[in-house]
Amino acid sequence: MKGIGVSPGISIGKAFIIKKNEAALTGILLENEAAVLLEIEKFDTAVKISVEEIETIKTQLAGSDEGGLEMLDVQVEFLTDPQIRVDTVKKIREDKRNVQDALIEVIRDTVQLFKNLDDEYLSARSADVQDIGDRILKNLNSSMGSDMQPFEPDTIIIADDMTPSDTLTMDIKNVAGFATQAGGRTAHAAIIAKSRGIPAVVGCGMDLKMVQQDDIIILDGSNGLVIINPGPETVEEYKIKRQEFLKNSELLKKLKNVPAITIDGKQIKLTANISGGDDMDDVFNYGGEGVGLFRTELLYMGRKSFPTEEEQFEFYKKAALKSKHKPVIVRTLDIGGDKQLSYFGLPAEQNPFLGYRAIRISLDRKDLFVTQLKAILRASVFGDLKIMFPMISNVQEIREAKEVLAVAKNELLDRNTEFNKKIEIGIMIEIPSAAITADMLAREVDFFSIGTNDLCQYTLAVDRMNEKIKDLYDPFHPAVLRLIRNTIEQAHKNNIHVGLCGEMASDPLATLLLIGMGLEEFSMSAVSIPFIKNIITSSSVSMAKETCRKVMEMENSQDIRVFLKEENNKMFKV
Ligand code: PEP
Ligand code: MG
Repeated sequence: MKGIGVSPGISIGKAFIIKKNEAALTGILLENEAAVLLEIEKFDTAVKISVEEIETIKTQLAGSDEGGLEMLDVQVEFLTDPQIRVDTVKKIREDKRNVQDALIEVIRDTVQLFKNLDDEYLSARSADVQDIGDRILKNLNSSMGSDMQPFEPDTIIIADDMTPSDTLTMDIKNVAGFATQAGGRTAHAAIIAKSRGIPAVVGCGMDLKMVQQDDIIILDGSNGLVIINPGPETVEEYKIKRQEFLKNSELLKKLKNVPAITIDGKQIKLTANISGGDDMDDVFNYGGEGVGLFRTELLYMGRKSFPTEEEQFEFYKKAALKSKHKPVIVRTLDIGGDKQLSYFGLPAEQNPFLGYRAIRISLDRKDLFVTQLKAILRASVFGDLKIMFPMISNVQEIREAKEVLAVAKNELLDRNTEFNKKIEIGIMIEIPSAAITADMLAREVDFFSIGTNDLCQYTLAVDRMNEKIKDLYDPFHPAVLRLIRNTIEQAHKNNIHVGLCGEMASDPLATLLLIGMGLEEFSMSAVSIPFIKNIITSSSVSMAKETCRKVMEMENSQDIRVFLKEENNKMFKV
């Protein structure tokens, strides 16, 4: 099941399903004024008790959980909100509903009102309204609702949504993770889980209903996955992943502020791959020195039409503002292949990976391309942004792309809009023709970034998405390695910067080899940075060069992997 991973880490445990005590409508109508007054009094007393309860929880939390305290303040505000009282009293007085029925309806309508709001944060507050409603109902009738029992160790909570009182009052020490049907990044489960370091996946949707009490659950908060009743192989696989995650967290603590320098003094740049400004905090938390690949597709996906220049500008500006003036390489739209846009109406193709995609679309739809470039240029005032073109296969495409960039710059100059006039331009090297002619391409740009994900699939004629042939997809194939080495060498000969932003950058087996080839920058998902840094700080360039020399003579990737593993074992500190 796929949801939104809001708090990283992996847990394996037993499902505990939280069902709300749903108070039902009674349909009882009030017969006289005395009954009306009594019901209003019951309401006021229940609200008063509810406020006192929350104040007690606040005292217990004081000094230990700022996020939790803030949420409770919001709850007190809702509890004492005059509108909820006015609406409830009106139903009691005018419609002669009893207090329980009146309140259930008022809360239901108010929850809906919040859910319909466009603002993600405000919409998530519908859980607060529901929560205070449940609390008042419980206090109207003390037989309703029960406090939660202690959990067994390694409990994974499965719930529609988590309310602040659920998360704050629950006996959390045995809770190993949360998965919720509803919710986004600002949902309560997300906030609480993150602040307490518990893996969490929210927004799983109706699929979560498949989970039964006591099912075995694997929760992968880093990738937003919930796996129900996994087989023994999957459990083993995730136990290893969990160990890696924990080891990574330990390394992180030690290595965050250590520079990535080899024993013999060569500094290697470690940067992160991101998909939006929100990922920026992680970049620095894991010790990244900027962004080697900002995939911009996310902004174009999950919507009904192309984002405007203004929307794009805000998107890039957010990342720029959070970048602490470290470089951020923004890749222009890389759509097509596996990444489709429903509203673009791209026709089905026989070979989408070899088809109308990435820079090919940008050069065909210059209107879209100019808009994106103008937005990036405008955001370049707020940080050290660089522009990178994907899927370049020849010199002509770079020249054409640069012409479009010149058009974008001129339009901004005409509008008297500021931008970085010296913005650097680079390309992805991810097609064999580009890697082979790297000497020619290097003369056109300021930097290269090697995209091994695509380079590997195009060099080996292996679809990177096809499970059946996944064993053939092999970045250690000598052909791929030769193309990488050539790209790095040609970059150096032409004095341009060269990085690598495919998944190979985070493969510990490849680190020594790539340093030996002279790679200057490794860009990867932020969580992998400490692992790779650990290898770099344990290695030396002389050793890496020798490793590289030996590997480049080997004919078979299996031998290469075995050899690289041995080399890592020899030097690994941990
Ligand atoms: C690559 O191809 O290596 C790359 C980094 O780009 P993407 O995975 O987005 O195609
Ligand atoms: Mg690619």
